[in-house]
Amino acid sequence: MAILVCGGAGYIGSHTVKELVDTYEVVVLDNLTTGFDSLIDERATFVKGDLGDGAVLDRIFADHTIDAVFHFAANSLVGESVENPLKYYRNNVSATLVLLEKMIEHGVKRFIFSSTAATYGIPDTEMITEETANKPINPYGRSKLMVEQVLADIAHVHDFQYVVLRYFNAAGAHKSGTIGESHDPESHLIPIVLQHLLGQREKISVFGTDYDTADGTCVRDYIHVTDLARAHILSYEGMAKGEIANETYNLGNGAGYSVNEIIKACESIAERKATIEYADRRAGDPATLVASSTKIAAALGWKPAFDLEAIISSAWAWHSK
Ligand code: UDP
Repeated sequence: MAILVCGGAGYIGSHTVKELVDTYEVVVLDNLTTGFDSLIDERATFVKGDLGDGAVLDRIFADHTIDAVFHFAANSLVGESVENPLKYYRNNVSATLVLLEKMIEHGVKRFIFSSTAATYGIPDTEMITEETANKPINPYGRSKLMVEQVLADIAHVHDFQYVVLRYFNAAGAHKSGTIGESHDPESHLIPIVLQHLLGQREKISVFGTDYDTADGTCVRDYIHVTDLARAHILSYEGMAKGEIANETYNLGNGAGYSVNEIIKACESIAERKATIEYADRRAGDPATLVASSTKIAAALGWKPAFDLEAIISSAWAWHSK
């Protein structure tokens, strides 16, 4: 029995592959448009191809006995999704439909889906639970919510089970120091700050200082990528044992940090001072997103092992290499 990891050459996918390969046979499907084959653990079988390519999927499902699909392959930049919505609906929705059709056709019935806090839009509560209304404010969030709705409909009529994991802000790097957060171009806050502190960027731009938050900058809930990886494996094992099915879980630390606080924390860990430019808001950004993850804690015993300092320290170790 093997696990197919779509998007296993990406940031969160590659960290999950690293956790999986100790126990499971792993097949990675990735087209390397945003991922890097250097991130894929060598114990996994790598297939270069598109999620939306039915023939590639037919081959994988014929060549391997796949018990579950972990689906990380997506575009995930809020700002870009506002600029280029069709890219998001094509890659995140249409391609996923091909994958789901092929899973049904080949009798593969377990699916773990990477979703996002962006499905909540601008929440009317401090702590977001899975019951908080879904009102996405950008195409990225909408593309993920559409797939969530498709999954619920499929599970009604097919022998098919899923878990949706709504990530808050993934950050940090693997403890081995061999893989970490790599995007090209990079748009995420923590790697940008660390690259700046390493002299690889001239300055940091803070997007918006007039949000309704304590210091006016956006507040986010940062969660270590290995904690996310563990949640996928627990979700899969819970489904395989028949303990859970068709569930949606938030994944965050339950603590919010502003952009200014993140910059300060990075400065303190790197023992260097940042040059900051205060800039306009970035399109599509809500003021505050903080997760309650009590549902997955109760169902599967998942708890984050990394706090903000451990997250940034692991990222700093990776970026400094
Ligand atoms: N951000 C920023 N400057 C940057 C990159 C990000 O001020 O160079 C802000 C961004 O507007 C958001 C927060 O940092 O409020 C986290 O952004 P990121 O892109 O890391 O994650 P997102 O919340 O979009 O998933």
